[in-house]
Amino acid sequence: MSVDATDGVVYATGAIVVCYACGIPLYRLQANIYAGEKPSRSAWKYAPVSLAELQALQARADLEPGQRAAIKALSLADQRTHCETIRPLTTGAPLDCPRCHESFVYGRTGTGADGAAALTDRAFVIHLATIPPAGAARRVA
Ligand SMILES: [Zn+2]
Repeated sequence: MSVDATDGVVYATGAIVVCYACGIPLYRLQANIYAGEKPSRSAWKYAPVSLAELQALQARADLEPGQRAAIKALSLADQRTHCETIRPLTTGAPLDCPRCHESFVYGRTGTGADGAAALTDRAFVIHLATIPPAGAARRVA
């Protein structure tokens, strides 16, 4: 594997974005997100997690106990409902978690018309809580 190919990658393809507030998985990254990338260019990279992906996460041995517990706290029916309520991200979309209604990112975000955190290019330095792709080294930062 070439190390050079991952230069500047902050969040890798296949990483699962979890809510910073409640820990529930929300999106799977379908492309790398690079340092300094404009949020309006990266919105399409966030694919809502599927029920199958939630199930696969539960079975992974490398998850932190809290991450697994957040998923297992939901019944199968609730997991299905959760997946159905995750909205695709678009520019200007609110960054709130469909489960706990808190902002699922942390850092300096843009704000929408109502003042809530939103995916805009203004004043935007977001940080994501993620579960790395299966088999990847755990990110320490
Ligand atoms: Zn949440």
